[in-house]
Amino acid sequence: MLEDGWRLHRGKQIPWNLFSPKVPFHATVVANHQLPRVLSPATREAGESCGQAPAEEAAATSDLSLRNQTQLHLMTFMFTIQRHFAYLQVSAESQQIFPQVMGLGKSKDWGKMGDKINAIRAFASSKDDQDVMIVADAFDTLVLAGQLEILRKFEELESESGRSIVFNAEVACFPDSDSICEKTPPAKHRWRYLNAGLMVGRVHAFKTILPEPLQGEDKEVNDQWWWQIYRRDHPDKILLDTECKLLCSLFAVTEEEGVILEGRRLHVRPTGTVPPLIHFASYGHRTRWVNGRSTSYVQDVFRQLFPQESASLMEGWWIGIRVGSSHDLKIYEGPGWWRLLTSAICLQCDLGGVESDDCKYLRHSVTCFWLNLGWFLLLLVLSFCVTGERPAKLRLYSIASSRSGDDQRSKTLSLCVKRVVDVSERHHRGGGGLGGPKAKVGGICSNYLCDAQVGEKVVITGPTGNELLLPEESCCNLILVATGTGIAPIRSQLRRLFHDVSAANPDASRKFTGLAWLFYGVRYASCRLYHDEHNSYRAKFPNNFRYNCAISREGSDSAEKEYVQTQMGQHMDELWRLLQLPNTHIYACGVKGLESSLSDCLASAARDRGQDWRELHKAMRTEGRYHVEVY
Ligand SMILES: Cc1cc2nc3c(=O)[nH]c(=O)nc-3n(C[C@H](O)[C@H](O)[C@H](O)COP(=O)(O)OP(=O)(O)OC[C@H]3O[C@@H](n4cnc5c(N)ncnc54)[C@H](O)[C@@H]3O)c2cc1C
Repeated sequence: MLEDGWRLHRGKQIPWNLFSPKVPFHATVVANHQLPRVLSPATREAGESCGQAPAEEAAATSDLSLRNQTQLHLMTFMFTIQRHFAYLQVSAESQQIFPQVMGLGKSKDWGKMGDKINAIRAFASSKDDQDVMIVADAFDTLVLAGQLEILRKFEELESESGRSIVFNAEVACFPDSDSICEKTPPAKHRWRYLNAGLMVGRVHAFKTILPEPLQGEDKEVNDQWWWQIYRRDHPDKILLDTECKLLCSLFAVTEEEGVILEGRRLHVRPTGTVPPLIHFASYGHRTRWVNGRSTSYVQDVFRQLFPQESASLMEGWWIGIRVGSSHDLKIYEGPGWWRLLTSAICLQCDLGGVESDDCKYLRHSVTCFWLNLGWFLLLLVLSFCVTGERPAKLRLYSIASSRSGDDQRSKTLSLCVKRVVDVSERHHRGGGGLGGPKAKVGGICSNYLCDAQVGEKVVITGPTGNELLLPEESCCNLILVATGTGIAPIRSQLRRLFHDVSAANPDASRKFTGLAWLFYGVRYASCRLYHDEHNSYRAKFPNNFRYNCAISREGSDSAEKEYVQTQMGQHMDELWRLLQLPNTHIYACGVKGLESSLSDCLASAARDRGQDWRELHKAMRTEGRYHVEVY
């Protein structure tokens, strides 16, 4: 029994397409004394993996006359001429193959590639049915072998598979529509999906597939998608070269990828083949930054194979203006200012938020860091020279959220900022200086922060200082004293002690088992920041949290003003007992006067009890139990 697609010829099974449509077959055999006329597959593969392409070429000359004068054509397609065409043109020309360009000026929209399919059809219609045509992407393909090897390898694939069009296969699947990716059969190696950037086929096969040109909406398609769909519906017509025998789509030329350049050929180790036609798809032609210069894998290979052409066509800079059809005004031609370019791209990537291949390489690089720093310093100097003013100084703000953040996911950081608005005559410009008319002056940073809109970007640095960090032990007494926005770091501590999920036991009780006693001073009742939070802790944890608030400016002028030290004085017996314990800490934060008034208050309490506050203060400081931050 013969399988489908095979014929019996003089007692041997022969693939059917050897009989049709190539017959009649007029050939002349010529002698070749140097090498066996036909290489055995084993010999050929060994030769390929050693990079002995010239020997193979010599051997293949014996096949030449056996071919029925089959012509090999190379067709490419481009809307505009770009210098990257050099890869295809120069490499093909070196193999005595001369690309023919279709599509110039047809469109500017690379998304609508029906024109490319129609160009293939038009090209095929002018060629003999038995001829073979290569259809290659114009800007990222290299031809690394001559006509004989290409034709021989094509015909081997054609006769093995019974299919007369071979596409390069690639590792990634694009576009992922119509379930094409998941329905593509698995392949032996990583090359699995159809890529329309490089194909070789018999002219009659293209004519059969494309009897009519695509028209109207049909033309507005991605050509790769069109071929994928065609292959899905006609799997017997198109072969994917998943073993890189004839065509190979490469993303990189590296040891890790198993692809190396040796003897002017690219050796694909995973498949053990040396394909004559290479398509540098996707990452293969995209920008990489190496040693401060942009390049690509296709450019790297091209430079090594054709150093002279690469130097004159692809390297250095050319700056000029294209004037209509008649003139190109050259402004500069010569070495590139790579530092300048890198620097401009770094700014785009880091500050402009641009996403590009360049940014992928440069964004977090050391090079970008130093270049951006250079720009920053230059701008500082320039701004100083122009305005005569120094740049704004840093402002410090205490972190008002705990380590879990207010979102409990450690992704946010909260500040508690007081908008500074002063009526002052200090430094008032144009107001006659000291003694001049009073001016309302706003603090720069606090107003900037208070006016910041949701979504706005702000630049922050830090954190600095560790004065107000909580003690490690969970059973301790904390006397917390704050005025105004000095509550910010205290709020952070209280969130940790009484709110954060991560500071709770599995049974929801708190890990903190000591006492936190807050004395908070504000001018008006309406200024009691986080008042609700404090009341809630007091209600939930009456044994662990006490809260005393002193309001200094409410009520009539004659009423006695109440400050934190007034409140502390009223509870001094309890406080003093606590202060004698070795696990009691004082944390105080707020306006500058707070430190001295707290000290005076405790010194007076000590005196009343016949003790010396200075000694206790010194001991607490030494033991890291007295923490004050004022501003
Ligand atoms: C450790 C630390 C922690 C801090 N934590 C917080 C916090 O949690 N919350 C908080 O709100 N603040 C905090 N501050 C204070 C904060 O750093 C700022 O000092 C405050 O916000 C004022 O900054 P500003 O840029 O708004 O005012 P600035 O522009 O620096 O002005 C400062 C003062 O000078 C006055 N002034 C400025 N220019 C003029 C002028 N031309 N003529 C007359 N007067 C002028 C302003 O009105 C203001 O009173 C903290 C400070 C420190 C040191």
